[in-house]
Amino acid sequence: MEILNHLNSINDFNEAKQVIPGGVNSPVRAFKSVGGTPPFIKRGEGPYLIDEDNNTYIDFVQSWGPLIFGHCDKEIEAVVIETIKKGLSFGAPTTLETALAKEVISIYEGIDKIRFVSSGTEATMSAIRLARAYTKRDDIIKFEGCYHGHSDSLLVSAGSGLATFGSPSSPGVPEDFTKHTLVARYNDIQSVESCIQISKQKGKGIACVILEPIAGNMGLVPAKKEFLESLERLCKQEGIVLILDEVMSGFRASLNGSQNFYGVNGDLVTFGKVIGGGMPVGAFGGRSEIMNLLSPQGSVYQAGTLSGNPVAMSAGLVALKKLKNNPEIYNELELLALRLTEGLKNIAAKFGITLQTCVRGSMFGFFFNQNPVENFEDALKSDTELFGKFHQGMLEKGVYFAASQFETGFICVGMNEVMIDEVLSKAKEVFLEIGAYGK
Ligand SMILES: *Cc1c(COP(=O)(O)O)cnc(C)c1O
Repeated sequence: MEILNHLNSINDFNEAKQVIPGGVNSPVRAFKSVGGTPPFIKRGEGPYLIDEDNNTYIDFVQSWGPLIFGHCDKEIEAVVIETIKKGLSFGAPTTLETALAKEVISIYEGIDKIRFVSSGTEATMSAIRLARAYTKRDDIIKFEGCYHGHSDSLLVSAGSGLATFGSPSSPGVPEDFTKHTLVARYNDIQSVESCIQISKQKGKGIACVILEPIAGNMGLVPAKKEFLESLERLCKQEGIVLILDEVMSGFRASLNGSQNFYGVNGDLVTFGKVIGGGMPVGAFGGRSEIMNLLSPQGSVYQAGTLSGNPVAMSAGLVALKKLKNNPEIYNELELLALRLTEGLKNIAAKFGITLQTCVRGSMFGFFFNQNPVENFEDALKSDTELFGKFHQGMLEKGVYFAASQFETGFICVGMNEVMIDEVLSKAKEVFLEIGAYGK
């Protein structure tokens, strides 16, 4: 097996660990669940990453989704540089914000107004506050395995059994902060109904249901169409605000994210990742009736020093315009994603390993799992040890997959069939190596 030199990254990681907890500023970057040292990245170039030891990797992480045009896209780069020369941030309104808002509104159905923030975490947190104000109810429902950022009330895991009030999934989150969050099972409408009943028995009922319509944070697990349609119906019937968290899937699974697959619009939609073209941007939007409650038009407080800053707005604007003008991009990326996942599945099968694969536009996932994955419980039955070996093997051959079985992979513009086929032939070598360990 070809082992790359990682000496510089090892030194960089050790040095980082002395001044940054775990050496990283977001946990999965530390490679804890797959082992090995995370390459420290020097620069990117289209679909490639180059690390501090000058190893080159084909990058299926793409900064966890935002970079649908790959690294150093010339048009995004140019507009960012041009904008920077006029000032980084003003804390005052600019026309760029209106332009980006109009762009999103033209792409997504059911959105009249939108507000920009600086991360997906802020977007979901603010959307929930708005939904609570709108319904004058406190309880919310989230699904096990869906991730909506790291705000306190969303860091919950299901208690004993599903359809219960959640308990904090991280130390530092008081029980009191999660006591309004109920946890339901993904793709299971009955568990949602139970949550609604429980909430009604205790109080005023549910303010909002938040979900990733195409879940990408337990591996890639899309909602079933009937499930999402039933959920929409149930929410309408009960006066519950349906929040579609499209921070990952928005402008990624298709131009209009999950809407293209389900025809379900939601009452509020949250965005992040691609919407900033690689700069830190989040957003949430919906009907005027709800959005007008936001301060200063209404009384629901929400703010941000760097929200809507011109550099981030202009990067997002170019990214969305390029996507809107080249809608065929999604088909092209999807074909490559299918070539990759079908290829991996077939090769693995030759070595007696079962993969469950999934593709939605430029998003892809593969589970080392005997059975189909429809929810978090199913996902957890995956063979994470085998995934870790596969991940390490591929990394040593210059293929950078997300460092966890429970993440989504991304195809970017600039990848092509030849690259995918090279990845597949490397995968064959790796499966040969790990297959030989016996399972
Ligand atoms: C990434 C992500 C978030 C959090 O966004 P940040 O910008 O990391 O705060 C929220 N929801 C979903 C679905 C995500 O994928």
